[in-house]
Amino acid sequence: MAVKQTAGRDALGAFAPEFARLNDDVLFGEVWSREEKLSLRDRSLVTVAALMAQGLLDPSFQYHLATAKRNGITREEIAEVLTHAAFYAGWPKAWAAFRMAKDVWAEESPDDAMSQHRSRMLFPIGAPNDAFAQYFIGQSYLAPVSTSQVGIYNVTFEPGCRNNWHIHRAKSGGGQILICLAGRGYYQEEGQPVRELHPGDVVNIPADVKHWHGAAADSWFSHLAVEVPGEETANEWREPVTDEQYGKLK
Ligand code: MN
Repeated sequence: MAVKQTAGRDALGAFAPEFARLNDDVLFGEVWSREEKLSLRDRSLVTVAALMAQGLLDPSFQYHLATAKRNGITREEIAEVLTHAAFYAGWPKAWAAFRMAKDVWAEESPDDAMSQHRSRMLFPIGAPNDAFAQYFIGQSYLAPVSTSQVGIYNVTFEPGCRNNWHIHRAKSGGGQILICLAGRGYYQEEGQPVRELHPGDVVNIPADVKHWHGAAADSWFSHLAVEVPGEETANEWREPVTDEQYGKLK
């Protein structure tokens, strides 16, 4: 998707229309927009480092810091970027950059955390999971990835959100596979220790095994849920994972 930029035409459209066109349509409309080559997040990292190296710490730098935040770079990450760049670009430039970054990352709203989580995975977060809300504690989201042959859904949990204990029933076959995409979460089978989940982890859940899955208390979490085909499959929802059970997890 093309990045929409009007700063060139807004500021210089009358004075330097060709410069404005190159800025808005080529630099942003073409180069920044080649997301298939390099993500917006990565382009923000390059841009912030390049501007800081030149000591270009003017309002355009502030704009690029705000863009970097919007593209999913966290407060911890920008602090690490500026610290790293300080050794190559110069200590005083890092000081000046930190003064601006402190303002831009002054407060992290829940929306920021959600968009940062979104920027860390290929699949969308999707819509609030209202149809299954009664079987969850906290807010979850659902995005269909495949709805034919094998059902695959991206399930996203806000921090602290988890589903109730449940069982994927099947006469034969069936069960569920979780493929973890982003954030930190948990999986537990009844009578077993809790397993902590990270991006790239895969959980194979046989049919007829009671279990739950969800996010850590301090992290968004997303996994693909693959519905393993079987005969006479059905979900059986049980009791919630209590705060006492969940609260023991770190
Ligand atoms: Mn399940």
